[in-house]
Amino acid sequence: MTEFFLPYEKFQYLIEELSNTGYQCIGPQVKSDAIVYAKMNDIKQLPWGVRELQARGSYQLTKHDNSQAFAWANGPQAVKPLVFTPQETVFKLKRDANGKLSFKSQAQAPKQALLGIRPCDLHALMIQDKVFLESEYVDPFYKARREQLFLCVVNCSYSSANCFCLTADGHPKASSGFDLALTEIDGGFVAEFASTLAQEYLQRLDLIAATKGQRELASKKIEQAIDGQTKVMPKNITQRLLDNPHHPQWDDVASRCLSCGNCTQVCPTCFCHRQTEKPSLDGESSEHIREWDSCFTKDHSYIHGMTIRASTKQRYRQWLTHKLATWHEQFGTSGCVGCGRCISWCPSEIDITEEVTKIMEDKA
Ligand code: SF4
Ligand code: SF4
Repeated sequence: MTEFFLPYEKFQYLIEELSNTGYQCIGPQVKSDAIVYAKMNDIKQLPWGVRELQARGSYQLTKHDNSQAFAWANGPQAVKPLVFTPQETVFKLKRDANGKLSFKSQAQAPKQALLGIRPCDLHALMIQDKVFLESEYVDPFYKARREQLFLCVVNCSYSSANCFCLTADGHPKASSGFDLALTEIDGGFVAEFASTLAQEYLQRLDLIAATKGQRELASKKIEQAIDGQTKVMPKNITQRLLDNPHHPQWDDVASRCLSCGNCTQVCPTCFCHRQTEKPSLDGESSEHIREWDSCFTKDHSYIHGMTIRASTKQRYRQWLTHKLATWHEQFGTSGCVGCGRCISWCPSEIDITEEVTKIMEDKA
């Protein structure tokens, strides 16, 4: 497939074209000392000259090269909140004057162009597709929003200290699942317009093919991210984890874990949720709400008068063994893409790769 050179000013033009054709453009921006995804209409809003430093329990922005907008690895969000929203009304019930109840579904699916998601975010989205679209039950809310996405991935030129996508079936360069893939080089991007939809926009941009030098520079940028990745998830962990429910490491991690659920909130694949009713005080209407939950809460395993996973040890073990082991049985893939968010945003500095390494190395 021909790769094109997309200068920054044409990227701006692409944003305008997407907006003119009904897309709400969403891209990375600096807000509250982190890089988050928010509505955008101008490339000036991108995080120019910013890099983040991540460590166990730490995420800090720092200054980098002002000529780059994507010199960072990731922020606390991925695509998840845009397709599986943190809280939404599933339906509303209303009683009319004759006492008859009417039902109104609340599904809303704006056309969203996601500009500048990371390859690990795209990988996570494909895993969420298995959960919400390819299981026995198809989630109509997720489906409606997913079908309206234009996905523009920006390949990584930098790995944070917590990234480990290379040992989580991922790569700093996306290979499929996107409409448009970009690799940032001097003055713009080397661009691959993969989908029919992306090709339609390509027609309007009047681009020229990337030169050999530009393509080589793009490859070097991705090599930089590969070479900079030092964290590793051990191999062949599934059976070892399942065979060791009484390993002493589960007690060790439980003594440090606060059961706060931060790791599940930032994880781009976690999908635990709960559903509640919000009735009006006059009894005339009711709202059925779905919102994110976490397997780290006691309530999440409360069934018929008892809490199945009453201790932090049980809940941490459930999270980790589901994500890395039983997820394979359920969805045919691991539930981890190696983004490292759960490591950066854990207030107790717990590192999933270190916990697994201990379980792999030590005798139970
Ligand atoms: S478990 Fe941690 S590293 Fe893996 S996808 Fe979730 S947040 Fe990222
Ligand atoms: S592992 Fe860390 S982020 Fe996750 S629940 Fe425990 S303390 Fe919170």
